Amino acid sequence: MRILIVEDDINLNRQLAEALKEAGYVVDTAFDGEEGHFLGDTEPYDAIILDIGLPEMDGITVLEKWRGAGRTVPVLLLTARDRWSDKVAGIDAGADDYVAKPFHVEEVLARIRALIRRAAGHASSEIVCGPVRLDTKSSKATVDGKPLKLTSHEYRLLAYLMHHKGEVVSRTELVEHMYDQDFDRDSNTIEVFVGRLRKKMGVDLIETVRGLGYRIQAPTNAN
Ligand code: CA
Repeated sequence: MRILIVEDDINLNRQLAEALKEAGYVVDTAFDGEEGHFLGDTEPYDAIILDIGLPEMDGITVLEKWRGAGRTVPVLLLTARDRWSDKVAGIDAGADDYVAKPFHVEEVLARIRALIRRAAGHASSEIVCGPVRLDTKSSKATVDGKPLKLTSHEYRLLAYLMHHKGEVVSRTELVEHMYDQDFDRDSNTIEVFVGRLRKKMGVDLIETVRGLGYRIQAPTNAN
């Protein structure tokens, strides 16, 4: 899962980026509204954290532009605590949720998890596909109750496929959601990660759809 942070407070931006990376996300950062708008307009993010008070272009304008261009990515707004009018303007502009400053990073992480889950149609923090369970809260996965030891790339791959279970996901899409913008991307590595993941899981869950990509075809369950 790939997140964009648009926040001009360098320390806060860095603090959020570190916490998100630790939780298994890939993170891009922008420090003004213009740069943030450009990235959100051109890169496929799974969620965006957007500050309202930004240089060059304010957050509400950035959001209105994205929504006006048909970008449906979930957006979490960062608002000043006592500015209720900002929250109203933000929600009217198409924000999915907001957090008032100052906040605990844990709260932002929880809201981001929920936004990504809901965007993919999952209500619970645990996504189940047959014997495999993905706990989005702890960024851990199990097979038949046994913990899977995954590298960060393997976890991101599994998490993306599980969030999109039942859908065919192309290699390009996986690359775009597993690496940040500065990474030297190579879609051939995806095949290697899929191979390792299959081996570690020991169950036949990831299906190769020839010429199209991969799919986790899960048995129907409530999740
Ligand atoms: Ca600011």
